[in-house]
Amino acid sequence: MKRTIDDLALFGGPAAFLNTVTVGRPSIGDRARFESRMAWVLNNEWLTNSGPLVSEFEAEVAEVAGVRHCVATSNATVGLQLALHAAGVRGEVIMPAMTFAATPHAAAWIGLEPVFCDVDPVTGLVDPDDVKRRITERTGAVVGVHLWGQVAPVDELDRLAHEHGLTMIYDAAHALGCTRDGRRAGGFGDAEVFSFHATKVVTSFEGGALVTNDDTLAARARSMHNFGLGQGGQVELMGTNAKMSESSAAMGLTSLDAFPAVCEHNRLNHDLYAGELRGVKGLRVHELDGEESSNYQYVIVSVDGAQTGVDRDGIIAVLAAEQVVAKPYFSPPCHLMAPYRADPPPRIENAEWLASQVVALPTGPAVSSEDIRRICDVLRLVVANGEQVAGRLASATSTPT
Ligand SMILES: *Cc1c(COP(=O)(O)O)cnc(C)c1O
Repeated sequence: MKRTIDDLALFGGPAAFLNTVTVGRPSIGDRARFESRMAWVLNNEWLTNSGPLVSEFEAEVAEVAGVRHCVATSNATVGLQLALHAAGVRGEVIMPAMTFAATPHAAAWIGLEPVFCDVDPVTGLVDPDDVKRRITERTGAVVGVHLWGQVAPVDELDRLAHEHGLTMIYDAAHALGCTRDGRRAGGFGDAEVFSFHATKVVTSFEGGALVTNDDTLAARARSMHNFGLGQGGQVELMGTNAKMSESSAAMGLTSLDAFPAVCEHNRLNHDLYAGELRGVKGLRVHELDGEESSNYQYVIVSVDGAQTGVDRDGIIAVLAAEQVVAKPYFSPPCHLMAPYRADPPPRIENAEWLASQVVALPTGPAVSSEDIRRICDVLRLVVANGEQVAGRLASATSTPT
């Protein structure tokens, strides 16, 4: 255990971990099961085009989400495009600035115009009042984001969209298995989109799914994700290729088998971090409502640099030297990213503040209690000596060469 800041790896001590502990290690589940599914795919020689494993995966995701329809896709970004296209959205799309770049990219790439709004300063979830202020006659849709395993304020957003005749889509990349008032993410708005990227709580290598209870939208999305082909095999709509392959579905099914156990492991990890960091000044583990279900996929900590003495980026640097990869989810906020940055950029205050404060710490099935205790030992040592660590960090970066 490290006793003084000279023991920190950044300042010459041995690293706390021999192997990297990182945010977003894949949750691959039972490897033998995956291999037998893959053997079956190869024996079958049915590699894509709504094969049996994709159909099985769609049925399971629809069940987890509690919805009638699921269209598996090659990733969530294209899934969002499919949702926007299938709903016939035009013009501006209001979305929170505090999200991954994929959310605005999905809209901008198909000629829609992202308009960024603010979020709640505590939860980081999209603020319906700010959405309302940004509605104009050019607005075509709102994309809500379920951030960090919490579901967005769906009642307010769905009502607002309905009142203004707007399409309501949810980016549910973080929200598989999560609830709001006991209702599962999946059935809100016109459609929701999950991600099964390698870093997500359920993975299919790359993958996503559009889910909805709207029969018409589901049928259009299903056709459009396969070149706009209709039941009779003729092209009926403009489409794209957004299909999931059988190999991805084999991974997705195997990862989904492990999902309940992974959620439970993540919840225990989350509680352990919260316990270990309770009372550490300036560090606050983002709490999730215990009445709701969550996948506890992210452990988010806000760093108040005024109290810790060392800011969020300093903490990330210290952890990196210890072989702990913590990530600033999401920084900068989207309105300050090169493709979307206006000159001068508007202020979107809560999103900017949160983006400068939060860091995601490693969790997931590969992260053990012992790993977490070790990470928290480092964090306590750093905060107990915040000013000194910050001073050393500053002189390390300003040393003349
Ligand atoms: C991961 C993620 C996406 C993109 O998902 P892909 O499947 O990688 O395209 C979109 N939105 C959010 C909030 C994400 O975290």
